Amino acid sequence: MSGFEGSYGGHAGRISPQAVMECKICWSVYDPALGDATRQIDPGTPFTDLPDDWSCPTCSADPHQFMVLRDPGAERHLEALRIKAATERLVTDFTEVWHGKMRDVPLVNKALRVEAVGFRLYDGMMLGVLISPWFMNLILLPDGQDWSDLVAGQKEVVDFPSGAYEFIHNSREMTGGYKACSLFSPMAQFTRQQDAVDVAQAVMAALFDPANMAETDRRADIRAAREA
Ligand code: FE
Repeated sequence: MSGFEGSYGGHAGRISPQAVMECKICWSVYDPALGDATRQIDPGTPFTDLPDDWSCPTCSADPHQFMVLRDPGAERHLEALRIKAATERLVTDFTEVWHGKMRDVPLVNKALRVEAVGFRLYDGMMLGVLISPWFMNLILLPDGQDWSDLVAGQKEVVDFPSGAYEFIHNSREMTGGYKACSLFSPMAQFTRQQDAVDVAQAVMAALFDPANMAETDRRADIRAAREA
């Protein structure tokens, strides 16, 4: 169940491209897999992409009169909306830091800008790479968890298929609590934004590749450092 059955009400953002819709006046169904042959709407056209002048093929009701019959893409769609909102906040926050206090710091790379790359859900959290003109970090953000009381500077080892990585807790007013694992700092070796994005995507792929286990498993190092 999507949880949104019957509550479409014209909120296009709430339904996924796979949503099957039903006219609440005459019960005609719009299935995006089938399209609407009577109006030359191709199969594969999401309900939200129907032309402005589209109406119920049977009773001519306005699209706002349609309800969600079923939405197999709802969970993924809502996930994507949550990730989009969280990463936009993160990027806005660090872009303000960039323009506010980092721009005139000598070690920054002015060819780069703040960008969030590859964010996805991992183990109930959001995980991705944040690029900035002065660092590239793996970032964990909460997805419903309360991270408001994270203690800045506290360390935590997080397991991935390729090994264990040390994240440092932090908190910012706009972003809220987050956990960061440093990949690069400073960023002098990147000549273009796209180079940094390519590396960020490669990092995300490598993180989930068990073949990298031997190379990247820092658990022993971390434990040894702690004991020392
Ligand atoms: Fe209808």
